[in-house]
Formats: sequence, C-alpha cells, structure tokens
Amino acid sequence: MSFFNREAETMSLSQLRRLQNERLQDKVNLLYNRVAFYRELMTAQGLVPGDIRTTEDLYKLPFTKKDALRQQYPFGLFTCSRSEVARLHCSSGTTGKPIVVGYTLNDVDLFAEVVARSLSAAGCRPGMLLQNAYGYGLFTGGLGLHYGAEKLGMTVLPISGGGTEKQLMLMQDFQSEVICCTPSYALTLAEEIRKKAIDRSRINLKYAVLGAEPWTESIRAAVEEGLGVTATNIYGLSEIIGPGVSQEDYEEKGSGSYIWEDHFYPEVVDKDTGEPLPYGEQGVLVFTTLSKEAMPLLRYWTNDITSIYYDKSAKRTHIKMAPIAGRADDMLIIRGVNLFHTQVEAVLEHIPELSANYQLVVTHNGTMDEVEVKVEAEASLFEALSREHTEVLECERLRTAMAHLRKKIKDDIGLSMNASLSEPGAIPRSEGGKLNRIADLRKH
Ligand code: ADP
Repeated sequence: MSFFNREAETMSLSQLRRLQNERLQDKVNLLYNRVAFYRELMTAQGLVPGDIRTTEDLYKLPFTKKDALRQQYPFGLFTCSRSEVARLHCSSGTTGKPIVVGYTLNDVDLFAEVVARSLSAAGCRPGMLLQNAYGYGLFTGGLGLHYGAEKLGMTVLPISGGGTEKQLMLMQDFQSEVICCTPSYALTLAEEIRKKAIDRSRINLKYAVLGAEPWTESIRAAVEEGLGVTATNIYGLSEIIGPGVSQEDYEEKGSGSYIWEDHFYPEVVDKDTGEPLPYGEQGVLVFTTLSKEAMPLLRYWTNDITSIYYDKSAKRTHIKMAPIAGRADDMLIIRGVNLFHTQVEAVLEHIPELSANYQLVVTHNGTMDEVEVKVEAEASLFEALSREHTEVLECERLRTAMAHLRKKIKDDIGLSMNASLSEPGAIPRSEGGKLNRIADLRKH
C-alpha cells in the first residue's frame, strides 16, 4: 500500500475541515501576536484573530506576496527568535536578496513527514535505495527529499545535482531503485544512458520522483522509456516548506497531485482580480500553512498556475492539483495570446518523431512578436536515419512531422509559430537543476 500516514491521508472531509480550522485559528493567533507584518496587515483591514475562524474566512485577508518576504529580509516573518530556528533555506530570487525561510525542529520533522508521504505515494518503500539528485544546499530540494526518504526508512545516496558520469556509475554499481531530480535532468540522464549504450539490465531504477519545474506527459513518456521507471510529479516551494507540498500517486498517474491539505490549505484565485475560483478552474495557487511553526504564511500567492479539485475515485481524501501550467510571471503574451511553454510541450507528446528536447525563442520583428519552436528529432529515429546515411533535414517523415507540429500548435494554442529542426544535442540540456526552456530575445 502506498500510504505513509494512512489516518492523515484518508481522514473524512469533515474531520479534515475541523482539523484545518483548529490549526488555522492557532496560526492566526500566533502570527497576530508575534509577527508585526501580519498584525499590521490585519489591523489595516480592521480584523482581529477572532474574525478568522474557518478557512471560509480566509478571503477577508489580503494575499501575502513574494515582495513581503523580500521586505522582511532576513528574519522579519519569523514567529520565534532566530536561535529557536533549527534550519535556514533560501530560494534563488533572480535579483537582489534571496527569500529566506526558517524551520524549527518540529518544522524539519513536518517537512520529513510530508516528503515521506510523497515518496510512499510515488511507489517508494522502506529499504529501497534512493539516489537524490536534487541540489543540496540553500535550495530546499536536496535536504527536503533526504530527510523524508530517511523517515520512510529508505537508503539515501545524497549525490546532489549534476556530475552525470558519476550519477550513472553509482546508479549501476549501487543498483539505485529511485531517482529524484528535475524532469529535465531525468531526460539528460536517459539520453546519456542511450548515448553511452549502457546495458539497460545494469540499471535497476523503478521510480522517478520529478519536480521543481513544470513538465508534461511528453517528458513523462521519454523519462519512463529512457530510464525504465514509473515517473510521478512532486511539487513544492520554499516559502510553504519545499518539495512535498503535493505529490502524484504512482497508481493514479495523470489524475493530478495530492495536496497534503491537513498542513497546507490551498485556494485557486483569478490571477487578475484575486477572486476565489470554483474547483477545476485554472488560476493562481495560494497557500495557507496550517502547522508550520517558525514561518507560517497566510494566503501566500505562489504565482503558479493550476486548478484544484476533489477526485472521488482516488485512494486518499485530500484535494488534488493539476500539473502546473507555468508561473504567472513566466507567461508569454504573444500577439495578445497567453502562452506557457508547457502548452507547446503538450503538443509534442502527439508527435512521436520529435523528441522532448525543445526550446522557445521569442523575438520581435519590428512590428510583432514571433515565437520559434526549436526541436530535435526523436533519438532512435535520428540514429536509424544516420545509419542509412539519410540527410536528416531532408527526411520526408520528419518534414511531415514538422508540418504536423506547426498545424497542431495553431489549432490547439491559437498561435502561428515557426518551427525548426535542430541537430541532436543542439538544444540546451539540464546539467542537474531547473532548465529554462524560453529564450526571450525581445528588448524590454
Ligand atoms: P526557486 O524559487 O529558487 O526556484 P523553489 O524551490 O522555492 O526555489 O521553487 C519553487 C517553484 O518551483 C514553485 O513555485 C514552482 O514554480 C516550481 N515548481 C516546483 N515544483 C514543481 C512542479 N512539480 N511542477 C511545476 N513547477 C514546480
């Protein structure tokens, strides 16, 4: 069975609501009493803690946005003194100071609990060997997965991201059963296995737990085929705790990821108006942390675009979220049409001649924005063509595939894009971490 904490994962919705409300009241009180930022924010709205009794009262509070975390740098949002904090992490923050997050020992344990639940849902079992190729350090991925895997009773190989040769050597020598990394790095590993013609019987991987960046079914298919695994999605962000906020079950692939909602209360709101949206509608994901001690957050605006919904036929009672379409600030607006790169990735899934390696290049041609999709041919097809000394760019099958790609992009996304075939290996690969799939060459 894939439960780590069956009682918590399957509690009835009425129990869950009761627990959420009790925990919410505690956190609102704590923040009002200990964190000037939240006291002032509530006072400005004419609110006292007694006004927020249930999750249905949350709408009365404004959102907490990334800027607030920057302004309170480094420890201004902590409910306790720095000396009571057991661990600090930072998220990258593209410019200036990073976002700082703090964990008490109980928070470290909570982090391990939600990751242990996530790994169980991903298919991992006590005693399995987990190769942890998420970056260790200030990024929450490495240590987050590490503690959760240990809590579940797994053997952890803390190899961190990058160093592909060594990853593959230890993967074979130690017979790793689980790989944790970004989906783009899983593709890099799969590609290297193929290039080096490593005997697949020497690879013992069964599961891949992939996250930290958006990905779609085309990447899943390539990773599952290339590594011989069942691949599931893990989602999270430092501000809320790190990876393990939500996780897909290995037997319910494609139906969304469970949000551990006894600890993280989700809302999806309209990205422009902030109005709460009904289940199933796509908007910005917002979280209220219900159990964290050092740095609880109320209505934290993640900027991630998705939808949430209950899945009545699922193993667990907790709500699910759809794969992240992208971050609101990474959304391109091309000739008035909103575009996430995952939409192009989703089209690639239907064209087997093309690989999951692609990049979007955005330019401005003097009058309007243009998008070019650079994509590579599927590796085995390319190899077959090379063996026959066929000029790949002349190949009829690929010409048809590219025409299909252009048409399907136009039909599905409503935008005309140029599409060009790149030499295998020409498109940037992940060297261990997150991969940027967009080259925006417009002048801003
Ligand atoms: P940084 O901000 O340094 O990248 P974080 O680990 O806090 O560090 O990044 C969290 C963000 O990564 C999320 O808000 C989301 O945009 C992205 N992310 C994490 N996991 C996933 C996932 N499974 N699918 C899509 N995006 C993800």
